[in-house]
Amino acid sequence: MAASPASLLHSSSAFLLRRNIPSRCHFRQLHRLTSTSGGFIFPSRRFKLPGVSVYAQAKRSLSTKEVEVATAADLFFESPLEIVEYPDPILRAKNKRIDTFDDNLKKLVDEMFDIMYKTDGIGLSAPQVGLNVQLMVFNPVGERGEGEEIVLVNPRVTKYSRKMVLFDEGCLSFPGIYADVKRPESVKIDARDVTGVRFAVSLSELPARVFQHEFDHLQGVLFFDRMTSEVLDRVRPQLQALEKKYEDKTGQPSPERIDTFKVAKVPVGFGTR
Ligand SMILES: [Zn+2]
Repeated sequence: MAASPASLLHSSSAFLLRRNIPSRCHFRQLHRLTSTSGGFIFPSRRFKLPGVSVYAQAKRSLSTKEVEVATAADLFFESPLEIVEYPDPILRAKNKRIDTFDDNLKKLVDEMFDIMYKTDGIGLSAPQVGLNVQLMVFNPVGERGEGEEIVLVNPRVTKYSRKMVLFDEGCLSFPGIYADVKRPESVKIDARDVTGVRFAVSLSELPARVFQHEFDHLQGVLFFDRMTSEVLDRVRPQLQALEKKYEDKTGQPSPERIDTFKVAKVPVGFGTR
């Protein structure tokens, strides 16, 4: 997910601007499934859970157990990483579950943070750097050395709030495109960290937004899949320009076209548009 430029901010989401985000951490710990050691630290502040009634259970189909396991070849990468842009079919491909937590994975995570900061992003998923595996990194502050670097491997949504909020989103795979997307205000997730340790966490505000955007990438869902037709009409020329750029670069026809995209289609994932 990209930080939004001030000139394109909507009043509903004025705090998305990267440099305006307060440095305090938005993460609220639920509990860990097992104890960990090492650098993946959540604040110890206790979080008062909202009433369970405001949450809906995520669909069972989101279980990562049903997803194929990544091989060493799936996790092979070359430095430096490059951002994959729409409409590259890598962004729509299935992403495999990771069950090898080795130095290669740590190096990949480091390189993903490198390119995320370099491109002014606040979140990045593995398919966006050409690897179809269930991995995302984010730091809602978007500055190296500030905020908290979050690494989620094989994340799963266990609950999400019924309350939906609009937010002005950007995406590193859609350079220069920013638009309103409606998503649940908060989510509960479980995942593994970069060492393979399972944990559960409840997210709200900006971390919940960034997580859901990146989680969508891991399901092959892109942010325009969740835009209303009015919002989509506004960014249509920019999407078409990316399709033309892809065709010019590859000599291949664009694998998808916004002209034939049906807004009514319910996207994969959770929540509603
Ligand atoms: Zn994105």
